[in-house]
Amino acid sequence: MRLSLEVTVSLIADGKVVSLSYLLKNDAGDVLDRSDDEPLLYLHGAGNIVPGLERKLGGRKVGDKLEVVVDPADGYGEREPGATHEVPRSAFPEDAPLEAGVSFLIESSDGETVPMWITGVAGDTVTIDGNHPLAGVRLHFAVEVQAVRDATDEEKEHGHPHEPGGHHHH
Ligand code: ZN
Repeated sequence: MRLSLEVTVSLIADGKVVSLSYLLKNDAGDVLDRSDDEPLLYLHGAGNIVPGLERKLGGRKVGDKLEVVVDPADGYGEREPGATHEVPRSAFPEDAPLEAGVSFLIESSDGETVPMWITGVAGDTVTIDGNHPLAGVRLHFAVEVQAVRDATDEEKEHGHPHEPGGHHHH
């Protein structure tokens, strides 16, 4: 009797939870971010990662390595001028960590919650910017697909993966 073996390889598609190791550089080759020991987990098709990278990962499988260059429009967006504001230190809670790179959420005048980033602190003045720190930056990703699995119903409902241990932030 002959056995016919069908090997099914899980390809990345909408509704798959993907585990990636990655290295992110800018045009100059500076390392901006890396996954180190903990791979990045994301739900494909849910906008968890920048669109330019998500698109290139569709149809890939475990073990695939790829280098992807993402223009700002497909990454963290173009840098918007006029998104910088100077606010007094007293506008923040007393125990807020006020230093460059810290992000926080504010409520805009139309009730929407928007992220802001601190870009500088001088004396009593804090400079904040509505641009993501990587806005306007061309992103050079080197990624390797570590794992691909079906998302659970709960993950699909939430639009993000849950850690194997079940604990995650919302
Ligand atoms: Zn969740």
